[in-house]
Amino acid sequence: MHEWAIANAIIRELERSLRSSPNIRKVRIVLGELQNIDEAVLRQYLDMMMGEVAPGVEYEIDHEEAVFECLRCGHRWTLRDVNLSDEEREAIHFVPEAVHAYVKCPKCGSRDYRVVKGRGVRLVYEVGENA
Ligand SMILES: [Zn+2]
Repeated sequence: MHEWAIANAIIRELERSLRSSPNIRKVRIVLGELQNIDEAVLRQYLDMMMGEVAPGVEYEIDHEEAVFECLRCGHRWTLRDVNLSDEEREAIHFVPEAVHAYVKCPKCGSRDYRVVKGRGVRLVYEVGENA
């Protein structure tokens, strides 16, 4: 269900941006690794809504790896750098906040860290020539 809400938010934001820059030709939708989204479902909604709100604008879905930064030692890492079971990985995808229960700094073992990248959804626009 929340794919609908996300698609809606994307469309609204695109609509707003098109008002100030009508030359947007393409939008790159960057999904954070810590965002649980069914991409096929999201595409269905986008395909339904894009034509109406933003005819002629293409979209592309991209992914962004999550990056963590330790607040104690400053070390930066990604989920590829830590050993997690499939179950733990799945839990993190469903409940991103659970990451703090499963992941600690691989260098100093602290659970005091922040998510630098890979949370939420970002839009990147490509602007075309004035037609
Ligand atoms: Zn650390």
